[in-house]
Amino acid sequence: MVLVVLGIDALDPDLVDSDDHPNLTLDAHSSIDTIDSSVGEPSTHELWPTIITGLVPTEHGLELDDGVAWENSALRWGSDLADYLLPDGLQSRIGAWLLTNTDEDAFRVPDTYYEENDIATVFDDREARAIGVPNYVVDPDLEDREHSLRRRLGDLFERDPEATGGHRSSDPYEFYEHCLEMAMVRIARARRALRGGRHELVFAYTSGLDLIGHVTYDLPELQRRAYDEIDEFVGELREDLREDDELLLVSDHGLQDGVHTHEAMAAATDPTLVNRIDSVLDVRDAIDAELSRTAHAPSIESRDLGSGGQRVQQQLEDLGYM
Ligand SMILES: [Zn+2]
Repeated sequence: MVLVVLGIDALDPDLVDSDDHPNLTLDAHSSIDTIDSSVGEPSTHELWPTIITGLVPTEHGLELDDGVAWENSALRWGSDLADYLLPDGLQSRIGAWLLTNTDEDAFRVPDTYYEENDIATVFDDREARAIGVPNYVVDPDLEDREHSLRRRLGDLFERDPEATGGHRSSDPYEFYEHCLEMAMVRIARARRALRGGRHELVFAYTSGLDLIGHVTYDLPELQRRAYDEIDEFVGELREDLREDDELLLVSDHGLQDGVHTHEAMAAATDPTLVNRIDSVLDVRDAIDAELSRTAHAPSIESRDLGSGGQRVQQQLEDLGYM
């Protein structure tokens, strides 16, 4: 079996409905607890490392106040200035603020960070594929379409302290197209990894729904449209699942009226997975339990057999030949 985990940043339990969004709610779904950062709201930078390790930010060490903000090239101008103008405490507070309030090319901590710091992740010791997971960057030189779209948003996504939630867009409808393309690209990459049959765990992530949520505070119908469309994209992924494959959707926080909310959600094709997850801290254990519950060695042979071939294999197994 293959477990596909799709991280949908800002998927909000209050904005999904099992009638309208059968694929965002799957066979079971639930609101889950999340963790606020030092600036008082849940942070993507901290929470995806939490989701893949099961550790609180102080344990995995990727916290808003850790200075990582200053590593970010988009913020380097601020760092140069701050190095000699600001005392350390204030510097990290501003770094934290910048990191939550900019979305350019952030979250680029490499996967080697975890091994170097003796931190176990859900990807260790298994045939796993991580696609775009924030702060778990497998190949820092590799960039996909979501990365490049995010880096070239320009005035489609700008900080504006005056705006609700701190962001504005010069053209929310054009921005919408970019965000939905990001979601399509990452879901397509998840489908490819699933269909390739070489992995037992496929964990993909997209920020498209989060970004569009930040600028639709006065365009709720546009945010609703994003939910409807992403439900359809997830439906296509769901159709690729074989009988024994499972799909888990997870978010780091919700987002309403342009601001992050303090609850996240989980949804799965296997209700047991959802029952095991009360908080972002439980996702890793739930994935481990699901993968150890079943024989999960990736088998490209059985994937290629098709249903006829599987029937033959089953008969051979029943007869004791396999
Ligand atoms: Zn956000």
